[in-house]
Amino acid sequence: MGSALGEVADVTVHSQPRVSPEACPALVLNADFRPLSYYPLSLWSWQDSIKAVFLDRVNIVSNYDKTVRSPSFEIRLPSVLSLRNYVRPSRHPAFTRFNVFLRDRFSCQYCGSREDLTFDHLVPRSKGGTTTWKNVVAACSNCNLRKGDLRPGEARMWPARMPYQPTVNDLHQNGRRFPPNYLHESWMDYLYWDSVLEP
Ligand SMILES: [Zn+2]
Repeated sequence: MGSALGEVADVTVHSQPRVSPEACPALVLNADFRPLSYYPLSLWSWQDSIKAVFLDRVNIVSNYDKTVRSPSFEIRLPSVLSLRNYVRPSRHPAFTRFNVFLRDRFSCQYCGSREDLTFDHLVPRSKGGTTTWKNVVAACSNCNLRKGDLRPGEARMWPARMPYQPTVNDLHQNGRRFPPNYLHESWMDYLYWDSVLEP
């Protein structure tokens, strides 16, 4: 199957109207069948998924109905893959725009608004503030503008919660309030089997 790898780029897509392959990402599970990451959800494009299949790095757990083919092979697009080798998940999530919003539950830390969210540096950059978990909070544009180049004490604006470095588990807890917009039905078992039951 290795020889087919070079052809992945030339693959032609079966005419199955209305569903584009781009709408068919694969959920990537670790070797223990837990999603590789939750936030953002570990999804691969169909091209990356097929490459990984040919490179023998993954097992196909579940498929879409959609197929793609090249002159020498035909394959159904995988909807769920599991890695053959276990990857140790990092305890601390990446410092990303999405993860900061998720930590702060998509609300302005000064007024609680969910509109026009942006970021605020607690200690402004002009005063030596760094762009890190512990100095950046979600803030609406209004509050961000109002606070301007002032420290919290000078602006008399304090965040509802002082910024902190979250664990993957912190984000997981918050993320359950914000389910992803798009979940293929074959993902459901893998996304929810390990979630904690509500008391
Ligand atoms: Zn605000």
